[in-house]
Order: sequence, then structure tokens, then C-alpha cells
Amino acid sequence: MTEDKERYIAELRSQGLVVLTKAEHSANEEYKEAIAHWSDTARREAQYVFCPRDANEVSKAIAFATKFSLEIAIKGGGHSCSGASASNDVLIDLGKHINTVAYNEKEQLVTVGGGAVWQQVDEELSKHGRATVGGTVQSTGVGGLTVGGGYGFLSGQYGLAIDNLVRAQVVLADGTIANADDKGVYMDLFWGIRGGGSNFGPVTSFTFKTHPVGQVWTGLMTFPPILLEPFFNAAQSWFRQAKDNEAANIFIGCSPLGPGLVLLPFYNGSEEDAKKSFGEFLAMNPGNGPPGTEIGMHPYMYANTLQNLMTTAGDHKAFKATKFNHWDIPRFEKLFKDFSQLVGAEPSDEQDVKDLAADPAITGSSVVIEFYPHNHIGKLKSGDTAFANRAAGFGMLFVPRWKNPDLNEKALQWARARAAEVDQREEKLGGSVKGKGGEGTEGYSNYGSGNERSQDVFGGNYARLQGLKAKYDPGKVFNKWFPIEPTKA
Ligand SMILES: Cc1cc2nc3c(=O)[nH]c(=O)nc-3n(C[C@H](O)[C@H](O)[C@H](O)COP(=O)(O)OP(=O)(O)OC[C@H]3O[C@@H](n4cnc5c(N)ncnc54)[C@H](O)[C@@H]3O)c2cc1C
Repeated sequence: MTEDKERYIAELRSQGLVVLTKAEHSANEEYKEAIAHWSDTARREAQYVFCPRDANEVSKAIAFATKFSLEIAIKGGGHSCSGASASNDVLIDLGKHINTVAYNEKEQLVTVGGGAVWQQVDEELSKHGRATVGGTVQSTGVGGLTVGGGYGFLSGQYGLAIDNLVRAQVVLADGTIANADDKGVYMDLFWGIRGGGSNFGPVTSFTFKTHPVGQVWTGLMTFPPILLEPFFNAAQSWFRQAKDNEAANIFIGCSPLGPGLVLLPFYNGSEEDAKKSFGEFLAMNPGNGPPGTEIGMHPYMYANTLQNLMTTAGDHKAFKATKFNHWDIPRFEKLFKDFSQLVGAEPSDEQDVKDLAADPAITGSSVVIEFYPHNHIGKLKSGDTAFANRAAGFGMLFVPRWKNPDLNEKALQWARARAAEVDQREEKLGGSVKGKGGEGTEGYSNYGSGNERSQDVFGGNYARLQGLKAKYDPGKVFNKWFPIEPTKA
């Protein structure tokens, strides 16, 4: 069997396909780079790493893995914390070569390789005064972010990344290269990849609509804990009147001074209007963020660099998301206290929290609350694409960061427990939007911790996805991200 594999690999290499193996290359920088992830928690030492140059080579890699019944992981930008883009068997690394970005002036569309990161898209489109809905952190992969939905600062105006997707090229489990759009023979597949994640195979190219964009008003503002109540009250006044061209992210994070609050406002319009809209925050005399995050008018791309310092690669990290609708100060006070205990700024009686607080990387943790005006996201219903998380609400994300791998489970549990508390309080305050009208009952899938049930993530779309899975991947070759059980024949 091993000899068969070796012969097969030798044959693929003779055809020009780059294959790195753990046996031959584990000390090699190229191999290490390929298996590296944003979070060390997601790192696996794949036996075979394929670095294809095009869809045809991706197809060959899939054929190898299926012939020998090896687990496949597809890696785009490598930002998943859950291990969805990592495998001990076969890793198909799209990021190495399938990462070109080409803007078509006539069509005003951009075509992006499945392994590109958003920085490349931002940079190319900025040359043309345009942008698409993409990640708010430039190192994030286009691939994973898009197939899982995709929120960005322009979501209020133009919806999700998938709402801007015009066509995509997908390599299916049987090796077929499918060109999918909303009219052709792969119309159903096009529905499935818009929210169904990597369940149908690697997307080797995405073509998105683009939009004109000039200077935007953005930057970071910081607020001390003493201002927690007026800060969250200001946030409420702001979002009640916010227009589609606005967005905001709120962070509970830690500076050398200890835990505090950070606001990232985004306004795609004039400085004068922006200052009016975010005036209540400005009146609180906020502090500045680190150099390079100054509030003011900047190129659109600048907004997507503001979180760079808070989101560096390395260490272990976990994601856990939820969604809420009721804006109440006690919730935020409790969250702030929990966070302060996590980072050791306040005492805790819980041994697990004490253990986490002692970790040298824990102060890099954060809690993120995201607000994107809902009109355009809600124009489509949950069943219109496979993405089942369109209801209005505030996304909340827990991101513990730590060094010691022995704390992996404790950190995950901390994040999951906090999300569960948010959900319980939401029920108390009048009920959650989650699970209504075909919505999934989990938070944003791309922020999942990995243990969510696929049925809960995909909500009312799960049955249809099962049918598609039976059609395009009945053998569950792609099974790493909220796996879908194919409908029985
Ligand atoms: C620092 C940071 C900032 C983020 N900011 C945002 C944000 O602003 N908006 C937002 O919506 N989300 C955001 N996310 C979440 C992000 O969307 C997910 O982590 C997403 O999975 C990242 O995609 P990736 O390609 O980097 O990940 P990977 O780890 O490479 O992949 C994640 C999943 O997507 C699959 N995948 C990747 N590429 C492809 C492809 N080409 N074809 C098919 N499947 C593929 C993988 O197989 C895996 O299942 C952020 C995450 C991080 C860590």
C-alpha cells in the first residue's frame, strides 16, 4: 500500500504537481508554512501536502486522496481555529499558488483564486477605486470567509460576500471541474457553496461584483472601564440611527493598562456626516489606538488593517459565536467582569479561569461585538442561499488566546460557557431570533468553535443541503466543516 502511494506520488510529481510529504519534508520551511494556521490549535502534520497550481491539479490531488481513502482538508487562508482546514492525511493548500486576483474593468467584476487573502483583493481593487464585501482583517482567506457567508464593513450597503458572488469554479469529489452560477447546470451547487462551506469541494476561483469606494472615516477609539455604561448607551443610540453606509465593531480587550473598550467605527461617506453619526462617542473624549489606527478619513483598505495588531498569528486561539438582539447594560457589565477575570485583572473562584489567567498569552484574548446594518443582508431570506444566519442581530464572538496546549479544552469551555450565558439572558429578555424563519440556531458559522451540530448551523437549509451532498459528494470526501449527511438514496 505504501509503495502504491509512493508510486502514485512519483507519477503526480512527474506531471509537475508539487507534493510535500511529512516523511520527506517535515523539517522544510515550505512544508511548515503549508501546515501553519492562524491558531496553533488548528495545526496538524499532514502526511501529504498538495500545492496545486490550478483546478486540474486540485482534481488530481482529490483523486489521490479518494483512491487511498485518506481524509482531505482544504486550506485557503488558514484562519479557521477548529481544524476544519487541517488534516493528518491530505492537505490541499490553495494558498501557495491559486491566489491570483484580476479585475475586469468592463464587467466591474473581480476574479480571485480560492487561496488568496483579502489583502490581495483590497490592494488590486484600490487601484481602480473599487472594493467588494470582504474580510475586515486582511490576512483572512477569501476562500473560507466566502463559502461560510462573509461579513465586511460594506455589508450594510451590499450584503454578504456571497451576495456579491457572481460565479465560482469548484472541483467536485469525483474530480469534475464545475463552473457554477445562478443560471447554469450547476445552479444548485451555486446555492450550496454560498454558505455551505467546504462541503462540496475546493472553490478554485470566485468572481465578485465590485463597488465604487473612496475615502472612508474610520480608526480606533479607546475607552476606560469606568465609561462602560455611557459607552454601550452611545452604541445603542448610534445603531438606532445608523444608515447602510456605516458599521461598527466593539472590542473588550486588554492593553498594558488592563482591560478596556475599543470602538472601530466605519463610515463610507463624508467626515462631517461621520462625526455627526458617531458624535456621542466623540463627546466622551476617547483615547487613541496604537500608531497606524488614527481616526480620520482614509482609503477604504485602511479599515481592514486596523485589527492587525489584535489579530496576529501564533499561539492557541478559539472562536465561539452567538447572536443577540436585546441591548442591556447588565449583560455588558457581566461580560466585562468575565473578561477581566480571564485575563487576571480581577480575581476568580474558578480554578479553570485561574489557570487560564496565568497563561502568558491570555491578555491577547478579546470579546467582539459586530454591528452591520441589516437591510441588505436581510434582502435575501435564509433559504435563498445555503447561509442560514440572516436575521437581524448583533454578532458576538469570544476569542480566548493562550500558549499552553494543556489549556485547550479549558479555553474552549470558557468561550462556550460565555456564549451560553448570552443565549440564556437573551431568552430571559424576550427570546432569541435564532432558529426563527429557517435560521440556524447557532451564531455565525465562520465563527463556530467546531462542536456545533450541522443541523443547528444550517437550520431550515439542512435538508436541501443533504440532497445536494447526495448528488455531489455522496461519499463525504469533504467532511471537515459542519459535515452534511447525504440523503439516503
Ligand atoms: C483574524 C480573523 C478575522 C476575521 N474576520 C472576519 C470578517 O471580517 N468577516 C467574516 O465574515 N469572517 C471573519 N473571520 C472568520 C473567517 O471568515 C473564517 O475564519 C474563515 O474560515 C477564514 O477563511 P480562511 O480561508 O482563512 O480559512 P481556512 O482555515 O483556510 O478555511 C476555513 C474553512 O473554509 C474552507 N475553505 C477555505 N478555502 C476554501 C476554498 N477556496 N474552497 C472551499 N473551501 C474553502 C476550509 O476547507 C475550511 O473548512 C475572521 C477570522 C479571523 C481569524
